[in-house]
Amino acid sequence: MQHTPPDFFSKQTLTPLHYLTTIRHKRIYIKRDDLNHPTIQGNKLRKLKYNLLAAHQNQQTLISFGGAYSNHIAALAAAGKLFQLPTIGIIRGEELGNHANKQHWGHTLQSAHDNGMTLHFVSRSTYRDKEKHADIARIIQGDPNAYLIPEGGSNTLAVKGCSEMMSELNEQLEQVDCLFAACGTGGTFSGLIDGAFEQGMNCTLHAIAVLKGAHFLHADIKRLSQHSQQIPWQVHHDYHFGGYAKHTTELLQFMQTFNQDYTTPLDPVYTSKLAYAVFDLAKNSDTNAANWVIYHSGGLQGNKQLNSIKTAN
Ligand SMILES: *Cc1c(COP(=O)(O)O)cnc(C)c1O
Repeated sequence: MQHTPPDFFSKQTLTPLHYLTTIRHKRIYIKRDDLNHPTIQGNKLRKLKYNLLAAHQNQQTLISFGGAYSNHIAALAAAGKLFQLPTIGIIRGEELGNHANKQHWGHTLQSAHDNGMTLHFVSRSTYRDKEKHADIARIIQGDPNAYLIPEGGSNTLAVKGCSEMMSELNEQLEQVDCLFAACGTGGTFSGLIDGAFEQGMNCTLHAIAVLKGAHFLHADIKRLSQHSQQIPWQVHHDYHFGGYAKHTTELLQFMQTFNQDYTTPLDPVYTSKLAYAVFDLAKNSDTNAANWVIYHSGGLQGNKQLNSIKTAN
């Protein structure tokens, strides 16, 4: 069956908002954006929306970057398949390209491959230099019809797509006092700031950084968001649990208990750190009665390779 992005997006419905619990007068809700699609999930679908519409118009090849755990790469490959656009992934780690190593690919790369993405594996140093490196330029120029999306998918159109989540939330809850979101590159969070401004919401936005020492986020959010001066926001740097894709047994325990108590699955890379942070902040804050919302950005495809994720302690 032929799909087009305009069709697909016009059929998308509001993702549910659920009340979870009250902690010291804070009513905690969760916006289940992970339920918007099984593979192009959560914030990744929001980020890709306007990029897919643009690429589809000119039947372009979607090219982007990521590591072996990249939800963005998995989502891009699935979106390419759904909308019949070719996809190319430039992947960090040349050792993964060896034929013998395909058994170590993990679910993310395997599903990207199964969805028809062409994978190019490059060394870590080439990857680090991806804006300038000749090998990468050659891959991109190899397709005259390339539609380039940055690492993690964070560009202006991604920010616009994420801003739309706030209009949904504004419809679903009369007053949102605090909104919490997990933050990698900051693209999603920038969109949430813009959406809060566009909707005239009286709300403070809290980013939970999942990378250790991610102080670049402050400048990147100011660059990506158009309204970072008009909406109050802050970044919390104490909930990375050792760094990107790392976790502790305490975090995994929390993730399991949360799933049991609220029948809501979390992922270990982003949303479990986010939910842990929100519960911890609620317990330790003297703020008056307020509505706090956790933005469930998805990432559940990554759970299929949970065993290979590093433990920090
Ligand atoms: C990619 C991702 C994020 C981070 O999004 P950024 O826009 O890079 O900050 C958050 N949550 C999940 C589940 C993700 O997959």
